[in-house]
Amino acid sequence: MPGCERRGTVLDLAPAAVVFDLPAEPLRRAAMPPGAPLRLGRLEWYRDGRRGRPSVCVVIHCPRCGQPHRHPWRWDWGLSPDVVSFQEARCWRGTRVSYWIALDPRAMRENAAAHAEAHAAYLDWKAAEDGLSAEAKRLRNAAVKARRKAVRDERRAAETPAPVVAAAVAPPPAAPVPPPIGFHRPPAGQGAVNRG
Ligand SMILES: [Zn+2]
Repeated sequence: MPGCERRGTVLDLAPAAVVFDLPAEPLRRAAMPPGAPLRLGRLEWYRDGRRGRPSVCVVIHCPRCGQPHRHPWRWDWGLSPDVVSFQEARCWRGTRVSYWIALDPRAMRENAAAHAEAHAAYLDWKAAEDGLSAEAKRLRNAAVKARRKAVRDERRAAETPAPVVAAAVAPPPAAPVPPPIGFHRPPAGQGAVNRG
């Protein structure tokens, strides 16, 4: 049966849903099963997650719902329209059957601009992140150094031999000395009135 070996490869292929599903080495159009539909889209960049890391995605206009759908993509895949990715459907309407996507060669200029902007944003972001990491490392080192010193001091205090002779002949604790009469003590009756 023609195309069997190819179909076998594709059936084994899990559709990507998130950026972590995308392989470092991308698939090419030649790996697609014959006749499989390919949806084309534009490259966009955005800030991802809590740390705001610049990332890229492919935006595909959906004829079914009329909305753009965003698919994960890898910046290091470059701009070749030959690169493809098999991905989960994004549309809340329709069959939800996974499909192939690629960069639209007709939008090559916009794609290249987005690719370059993403890179510039990434370099800025990386410099800021490196600064924060260095600051965090400096604070952590200072904290560790202080803790180490505290532990060393505690150990030194614990290991200092107790003054054995002095302890053996130490007198019993002295009885508390009563305060001089009239000192610190209010005249009879007054304290009770003040305390209500
Ligand atoms: Zn849709």
